[in-house]
Amino acid sequence: MAEPIRVVVTGAAGQIAYSLLYQLAKGDVFGDQQPLSLHLLDIEPMMGVLNGVVMELQDCALPLLREVIPTADPAVAFKDVDAAFLVGAMPRKEGMERKDLLAANVKIFKAQGQAIDQHAKKTVKVLVVGNPANTNALICSKYAPSIPPANFSAMTRLDQNRAQAQIANRLGVPVNNVSKITIWGNHSSTQFPDVANATVITANGETKSVNDAINDQAWLTGDFISTVQKRGAAVIAARKLSSAMSAAKAAADHMKDWWNGTPAESWVSMAVFSDGSYNTPVGVMYSFPVRCSKGQWEIVQGLTIDEFARGKLDVTSKELIEEREEALAVCQD
Ligand code: NAD
Repeated sequence: MAEPIRVVVTGAAGQIAYSLLYQLAKGDVFGDQQPLSLHLLDIEPMMGVLNGVVMELQDCALPLLREVIPTADPAVAFKDVDAAFLVGAMPRKEGMERKDLLAANVKIFKAQGQAIDQHAKKTVKVLVVGNPANTNALICSKYAPSIPPANFSAMTRLDQNRAQAQIANRLGVPVNNVSKITIWGNHSSTQFPDVANATVITANGETKSVNDAINDQAWLTGDFISTVQKRGAAVIAARKLSSAMSAAKAAADHMKDWWNGTPAESWVSMAVFSDGSYNTPVGVMYSFPVRCSKGQWEIVQGLTIDEFARGKLDVTSKELIEEREEALAVCQD
């Protein structure tokens, strides 16, 4: 068997981590032949709760799980890690402005970037889940200059999974019959779930474009997009808590594909540093269609962006530029 790898999860006493840790520890992400040490970071007041999570992990009796290190010290949490799931963030409190939330969280991701820079392996892969995920990932990378910027990404996989499930449900096919859906831009209500290049294996076994199979442009350019954009809020309204099981599954999907690779003919959505592809602003963390191979991602090129899509890409670009300016201002304080 391989040597154990070190994987850190921040916000480890929170609700997303509660679902994610089990998937990691049983081999869903790094494979059923890959032992691992789990480093669990949360804040000091949560250490009691975290201890309960450690007990449960132990009681799962999972053979791949070699060691669990609960801590409130980032230097311990990030020591020699191979992969990092940055889930922990401050939740939005009643009456809190979006700006205040961004300021509070950007400071957390600045400090964690510095800790990653100092303590993690230089090859670490960092996935940011905590919101505002794209901008937190940008700040984290900025403060970890010794780690290649390509090793940082933010999660839009939950949005992709939501979009894929909406299409599959409408066509009455299993979700993995639908491929090549793209989430463009920010993990926020300005994101653009795009089916222009998506394909589906229909119930009678034919491969078709999603556009042809659905055959309802009004739905595809209307309710479909707004349902995906507002799905997080709909879950909160129903559950009185934000998405956790689905967010954890998406985080596992994201890292699994980045680590192991994506099928050559398909792609997944990840927020990564923009190189200006598709006329997006260079240097923001923008969700693109990507293919992964040997631990590296590459933006899928050459897709057609029509006028409708162009407008959507530009709206989410503008929001990401504004977030970046606000975040950089906070970091200079
Ligand atoms: P939660 O409140 O249940 O857990 C968050 C945990 O983070 C808490 O235990 C808290 O103590 C911890 N924490 C706070 N500051 C920390 C710090 N500085 N270091 C380490 N831990 C810290 O929240 P949750 O439901 O697990 O959600 C976590 C984050 O994920 C939120 O920001 C949420 O908005 C975000 N989220 C993102 C997506 C996405 O698709 N990108 C989807 C769902 C949720």
